Amino acid sequence: MRILIIEDERRLAHVVKKGLIEDGFAVDLAYDGEDGMFMAETEPYDLIILDIMLPKLDGVAICRRLRQKKHNIPVIMLTAKSNVEDKVTGLDSGADDYLTKPFSFLELKSRIHALIRRSRGESSPVLKIADLTVDPIKHTVNRNKHHIKLTPKEFAILEFLMRHKDEVVSRTMLIEHVWDYNFEGLSNVVDVFVAALRKKIDGKATFKLIHTLHGVGYKISKSV
Ligand code: CA
Repeated sequence: MRILIIEDERRLAHVVKKGLIEDGFAVDLAYDGEDGMFMAETEPYDLIILDIMLPKLDGVAICRRLRQKKHNIPVIMLTAKSNVEDKVTGLDSGADDYLTKPFSFLELKSRIHALIRRSRGESSPVLKIADLTVDPIKHTVNRNKHHIKLTPKEFAILEFLMRHKDEVVSRTMLIEHVWDYNFEGLSNVVDVFVAALRKKIDGKATFKLIHTLHGVGYKISKSV
């Protein structure tokens, strides 16, 4: 899943970015409101972490504009003060959740997971299909009760496929949601990662879950 952080406190932005990358997210940064607004409108993010006090365009204005343009992407707002008014303004502008600075990274992470889950209409925090279980919070994968070890990128691809199970996922979708803005590879990079992932998920299993739809993309499903 891919996250945009719009935050002018660069140190904080970098710390959060580093933590989220370690957690398997693809992350882009914007340091002012105008850049942030532009990126939010042009790239398909799965969630935005939005500071309120920003140069050029503030977080409340960004959120209002996104909602006016019918962008329903989940937004977590960061407020500098624990001021009730700030929270209310933030939520009224269309934010889904807020955190007061300073916040704990663990809390941010758990709210991100909850919000992504809610936005996808998923009731359980654990993703399941047939005998495969993927836990995005604990970062664990099990198939037929065997633990499977994945690299962060393989995990991110699997998580995205699981959140779109029984749907066709194109290479472009994977590039846009699993890699960040600086991705410069060729789309066959995706094929290489999926091949490695498939070997680990389906290699020893009695039936395949990851299917290739030639010229279209991939699908995780009990049947093709
Ligand atoms: Ca700020």
